[in-house]
Amino acid sequence: MKVLLIEDNKTLADGLNHKLREVGFIVDTFYNGEDCLYSLEISSYDLLILDLGLPGIDGIEIIKKLRKSYINLLILVISARDKLDQRIYGLDTGADDYLCKPFETDEVIARVHALLRRNKNFASNKISYNDLEFDTKSHTLTQNGQIIELNKRESSIFEYLLQNLRMILSKENIVEHITSIDDEFNPTAIEIYISRLRKKLGKSINLKTVRGLGYMLS
Ligand code: CA
Repeated sequence: MKVLLIEDNKTLADGLNHKLREVGFIVDTFYNGEDCLYSLEISSYDLLILDLGLPGIDGIEIIKKLRKSYINLLILVISARDKLDQRIYGLDTGADDYLCKPFETDEVIARVHALLRRNKNFASNKISYNDLEFDTKSHTLTQNGQIIELNKRESSIFEYLLQNLRMILSKENIVEHITSIDDEFNPTAIEIYISRLRKKLGKSINLKTVRGLGYMLS
């Protein structure tokens, strides 16, 4: 899952960025509203964590702009604006959740998981597929209760394929989803990861190569 984090307090931003990566998210972090809008134009994200008091464009203005175009983007506001009317205004404008500062980073992580789960209509963090079960929270894959070891990239790719079952995903699309803006990544490496997934998961998965278009898990 890919998260965009916009927070102008660098200490807070860097701490959150670290924690989100630690628990397995792909994260891009920026410190102002302009960079937020720009990154949303050039990449796609599952969720935006947005501070409101930002230099340049205010967070509320960003939400208004986004709600006109990025309908499906989940928005979690993190803000020092903690008055009831400010919180209601944030939610009414289009935020999906609103967390007041100060907070514990663990609560941010928990809310991110809850929002993603709700959005995908999943009752839990676990996705079942044939005899496999993928835990989107711990990023572990099990087969009849036995853990199958996947490295971080393999796990990100498999999760992305699972969440887009029966959809053709191009290499570029996959790369965009599993890398952050500062990652160096060659799209041809996707072929290697796909072949490793096929080797590790064997008959449990039906992972097709759609010539010239990409890959599809069905
Ligand atoms: Ca701020």
